[in-house]
Amino acid sequence: MSKYILETQHLTKEFRGFVAVNDVSLQVERGHIHALIGPNGAGKTTCFNLLTKFLTPTSGKIFFSDHEITHEKPAQIARRGIIRSFQISAVFPQLTVLENVRIGLQRATGLSYQFWRSDHALDHLNDQARSLLDQVDLGQFADELTINLPYGRKRALEIATTLAMEPELMLLDEPTQGMGHEDVDRVTQLIKKVSAGRTILMVEHNMSVVSRIADRITVLARGAVLAEGPYEEVSRNADVMEAYMGT
Ligand code: ADP
Repeated sequence: MSKYILETQHLTKEFRGFVAVNDVSLQVERGHIHALIGPNGAGKTTCFNLLTKFLTPTSGKIFFSDHEITHEKPAQIARRGIIRSFQISAVFPQLTVLENVRIGLQRATGLSYQFWRSDHALDHLNDQARSLLDQVDLGQFADELTINLPYGRKRALEIATTLAMEPELMLLDEPTQGMGHEDVDRVTQLIKKVSAGRTILMVEHNMSVVSRIADRITVLARGAVLAEGPYEEVSRNADVMEAYMGT
């Protein structure tokens, strides 16, 4: 088994002649937290969309656990264990926190809602959902309506619903965006905690978060890889500084 859970080879995406992702060869090591960083418009979101097949690459290949997945459909990719964190909008605000996680679990089993109508099945599902909520420190909010959760806690719920899908590789899209210090710290610790036994690829702008938890960093600029390595190395790279400062 390769030490890389995810590899791209010469991944390229053009939009009517505009090259948004340009010859990106990325290697994500199994068990790592790998950060994808870069200025606005660098191609990070397009990369995530290519990895989950929301977009089809113009050229290049994608491998997951040594299988080529370039031509697979989003549902097949999810079944392989590549799960992108749901956007907050995908969490149902009028349901309780527990119910939202339960829906994630139901979705993961692929079984119909009818099946879970038995009390025994529902108890089992509730236990699983509570255990996931405990993992993300949301146990005390289980019976709250999701709409009433503070923002940082909603992002933690998003991570819990992603965990319900049993990801081998979790793709987190700016997990600390728009948060105050306290929430940033809590979510950073949470990501570190849930990374045990899985791999995380995250787009993250907050360099303090990246420096604390990322094992490796890939820097994109204008669609191409500008630098790759551990934080200490990448943060001292002159090209990276220039890309960020725009000088
Ligand atoms: P980032 O996430 O790093 O900010 P994006 O991947 O969103 O960057 O965008 C990279 C570039 O590709 C940007 O210049 C953006 O305008 C362009 N782009 C993204 N999606 C499309 C699209 N569907 N059609 C045309 N251009 C796009």
